[in-house]
Amino acid sequence: MPLTEFEAQYPRICRALRQAKAADRTGQAYLLIGDDADFLEKFSLAWAQTAACVGASEDGQACGECQPCQLFQKQAYPECFVIRPQSKSRLITVDAMRQFDHDISLAALPGRLKVGIVVEAECLGDEAQNAFLKTLEEPPRGTMLLLLTVNARRLLPTIRSRCQCMSLLRNRQDYSLAQQEGLFAILANLRRQAGVKVGLQAAGRISQLFGKLHDLAEKQAEAERDPRWDDIENAQLKKQLAEEQEARVEAEYVRLRDSLIDAMLAWFLQRFLIANGMAVELLPHPEILAEAGDLLENPPSPWEAEQDIREVEEFARCVKSYVEERLALDAMCLSITEKR
Ligand SMILES: [Zn+2]
Repeated sequence: MPLTEFEAQYPRICRALRQAKAADRTGQAYLLIGDDADFLEKFSLAWAQTAACVGASEDGQACGECQPCQLFQKQAYPECFVIRPQSKSRLITVDAMRQFDHDISLAALPGRLKVGIVVEAECLGDEAQNAFLKTLEEPPRGTMLLLLTVNARRLLPTIRSRCQCMSLLRNRQDYSLAQQEGLFAILANLRRQAGVKVGLQAAGRISQLFGKLHDLAEKQAEAERDPRWDDIENAQLKKQLAEEQEARVEAEYVRLRDSLIDAMLAWFLQRFLIANGMAVELLPHPEILAEAGDLLENPPSPWEAEQDIREVEEFARCVKSYVEERLALDAMCLSITEKR
């Protein structure tokens, strides 16, 4: 499958890759982050073919006719090595990793690009990651390494930082509710060393936002209420209907709140990608950066950005297990803004 198949969906990424190819400046290591492992694999093969093509057009498009192109199309390019987790353990063992390292270190035909693809790289254990790190530090000549992952945070920061990151999310979420309610502008204030006052202020504003969602849920449930209920005179039945109505409000509120928490996680995940050097145009949700303050000029360190995601995940976990919302919010905001 050629890269053109993906142009419509990921125009910026495909253009950046083609430009790199056309300028003969393809990278040695890429990290492809997404939410669909099979899709990442298809994309990686398309990019590998483009990179290996010896007859590419001026705009970096694979020709489809040269020998490498044809071999890729037949899935028979001999210098393409793929490693993936074992089906049972879901692990990529250190032994398998060493074999992979060995394979890509062997000489290729002159002028032929060697390609090493690590499918589901999050399945590399720490030991295997460390073994692979050496390869990343000194990749064999004429080699391109592609790491594919649906969970980039499971990879060592040293691995991530040695790769060019690309985000290929398929199930793009719509964060218009969060955007409309100004959530991202609030989150932009949450940063290290900002202090207690900023932290509590942000918690207060998010808490207000949650309150608004509750009103919204009530209105929605009210609009859906069957007007015939008003005519019911049986007290027990009336009580039961009122309880059901309350449960509906609560369910709708939780749905709205979860969508906001998803947006929070997306914000911090994106911040993490920025901290790891991902170019803005390649981010999964550049549209939510409109109120990012000076995030782009002064990103957190990768380590801090990662810790902050943990705080948000912990918050999400607390709220789901019925810890009092405001308490959980305060804890999250204070942890992120703590002066240390
Ligand atoms: Zn070609």
